[in-house]
Amino acid sequence: MNMEKYKIGILGATGTVGQRFVTLLENHPWFEVKVLAASKSSAGKTFKEAVQNRWILNSKIPKEYENIIVMDVEEDAKKIASEVDFVFCALGGEKEKIKKIEEMYARLECPVISNNSANRMTPDVPMIIPEINPEHVGVIEHQSRRLGTKKGFIAVKSNCSIQCYVPALHPLFDLGIKNILVCTYQAISGAGKTFNTWPEMKDNIIPYISGEEEKSEKEPLKIWGKLENGEIIPNSDINITSQCIRVPVSEGHTAAVFAKFERKVSCEEFIERMRKFKGHEMSRGLPSSTENFITYFNESDRPQIKSERNLENGMGISVGRLREDSQYDIKFVCMSHNTVRGAAGGAVLLAEMLCREGYINK
Ligand code: NAP
Repeated sequence: MNMEKYKIGILGATGTVGQRFVTLLENHPWFEVKVLAASKSSAGKTFKEAVQNRWILNSKIPKEYENIIVMDVEEDAKKIASEVDFVFCALGGEKEKIKKIEEMYARLECPVISNNSANRMTPDVPMIIPEINPEHVGVIEHQSRRLGTKKGFIAVKSNCSIQCYVPALHPLFDLGIKNILVCTYQAISGAGKTFNTWPEMKDNIIPYISGEEEKSEKEPLKIWGKLENGEIIPNSDINITSQCIRVPVSEGHTAAVFAKFERKVSCEEFIERMRKFKGHEMSRGLPSSTENFITYFNESDRPQIKSERNLENGMGISVGRLREDSQYDIKFVCMSHNTVRGAAGGAVLLAEMLCREGYINK
């Protein structure tokens, strides 16, 4: 790997996920942040001025970014695209608009690695968890043909809610997963909020997260889908039903999962397979790769948010409470960090893989 770093931009740098990107990339060995961009209301301010009243992380605003002037995602698009090798998209807001913004950057020959859901179900846009389905990068050449680009494309990571239970079930994929029932217990940072900005969440749960159940049921099927005729065809053998609940937790999404397979699996075999699963080789040896992708806990009161969310720098998947079930084959509980593994960290890992595989160039 050449020592010169990739120049990157962050679209939506001032938001919850944007702030995570900024801190994760502070000392990144391959990537150097050159552009921070957001909406018109932040554009023209220094990054510090734009975020100082809504900085949500425990760590301080990185000094080297404090005085960068925030650019306008739309008006400055040409300038941004000419100054960076690729952008991370952490934009919030209306989906149709974000879809257009992402396509605009791709057409400006600037690859987009996105957190946003706007393009997740676009058939020629790969939605990748690098440990699980990196081979979906193959669809990028078809997307580039549609967009008429040489090096511009969009690649996305999946929704934060699925990033603990899809990895936990993946080591059993060859047993024929049939039915999955999942209840997710999701942190308030997933809505871009803190307890200060969302005081109703103190001592409360809200049994509704707009659009989350649809994403939790559909996105795994694309992750487990196949590349055929220039598109990712979602898996049609697996049925998923879900309930997504907002809980009074700052960071970290938990899921209670029940699963049925074509071939019955013992708890011992499941634990053994999870412990051995290191992720696809394309996901290994990158700056953000994990040593242990999945950690299984034998203690009956784990995984817990506070002790497990920062495992593997927030990129690990924690699983526990595996038992046989009377209606499904097995049940278990799993968790992962929603703004690291589930958002910015997952996107950084994906970008690292795309750089090493030659899809993004300096
Ligand atoms: P957020 O805190 O509301 O931040 C939104 C960002 O987008 C801000 O930088 C905002 O700029 C910018 N923005 C909004 N509308 C814009 C527009 N019309 N033009 C240009 N910039 C605009 O949201 P978030 O929680 O970080 O989430 C960002 C995206 O990631 C969402 O699509 C979300 O669904 C997804 N996501 C979030 C999580 C999570 O755990 N939070 C996990 C996975 C995926 P200003 O500050 O200037 O308004």
